[in-house]
Amino acid sequence: MKLSEFVSNDRTVEEISYAADNGTLPHAILIEGAPGTGKRTLADIISRAAVCTADHEKPCETCPDCLKALHGNHPDIFTADGNNSGELSVDAIRRIRTDAYIKPNEAAKKAYILNGCDKMLTQAQNAFLKILEEPPANVIFIMTVTSANMLLPTVRSRVRLYSLYPADPGAAAAYVSRMLPDMPYEAVAECAVQCVGNIGKTIETLQSGGEESAKLAEDIIRAAFKSSEYDLLVLTSKLCRDRFFAVRTLDNLVELSSQCVKASVGAAVSSELASDISKRISKRRLLLLTDNISRARKIISTNVNLNFFGTWLSSVLKV
Ligand SMILES: [Zn+2]
Repeated sequence: MKLSEFVSNDRTVEEISYAADNGTLPHAILIEGAPGTGKRTLADIISRAAVCTADHEKPCETCPDCLKALHGNHPDIFTADGNNSGELSVDAIRRIRTDAYIKPNEAAKKAYILNGCDKMLTQAQNAFLKILEEPPANVIFIMTVTSANMLLPTVRSRVRLYSLYPADPGAAAAYVSRMLPDMPYEAVAECAVQCVGNIGKTIETLQSGGEESAKLAEDIIRAAFKSSEYDLLVLTSKLCRDRFFAVRTLDNLVELSSQCVKASVGAAVSSELASDISKRISKRRLLLLTDNISRARKIISTNVNLNFFGTWLSSVLKV
């Protein structure tokens, strides 16, 4: 199986690849791991490998079956999520059971991905157990769960368990950077360290709070321009939310202040705020502000206490 795109967890990846290549991949797999460790990604890859028509290195990601799977519309890949109401209920499991005994529509195999099995109630698990006891031919079940202990021992004993762990922060950063090529690598790397190599959490953190941090940077620049001590303190205290949010806001501040400097020498800039401020602030004040923001950006990369940092920043921005 081709799992080269799956980051870290080398031993698990090797085990699955070896089993798949030798035809010994069991009919029921359980993938456990904390949120963000790649359970769904791995389950999707295994399901694509099940329907792929390439001779080797499955999933090839280019055959018609892989392409349908990648677009989420392969008729032989069924996905349910326990986090969505009723999708892993007893009735739903019974329907899966009936369906699993019907031969595949197009591919050689059918794949059932059951995500969020943490939410599967005992009755539903017992219904699923009946399928595991008399497994249909040409079917693979791939379950994902945060901890295998959430499932009945009888279910656990009939599935092959694979555990996933967070990646090395460096490997996580390299992967996330490929996923989000527009994001500055330094910000991705810092976020990956903050998220202790958890790729899903890194991506989520990077994608969330972007607008909020851009707005906060603008509010801080405005308050700094007005030398409003109280407003500045209130605004910079918002940086305590988390370190990555603070880093991101400082990056926005660096960009904004650099736009102010460019506008002050007559260059065209995209930020209306920067253009406006550059006309109403002396060059001396603007350079001092820019200098202090650059200094703050360097300091936030160290392990500085965020509460102290917010207070310090409000004091040095009052120029
Ligand atoms: Zn393929």
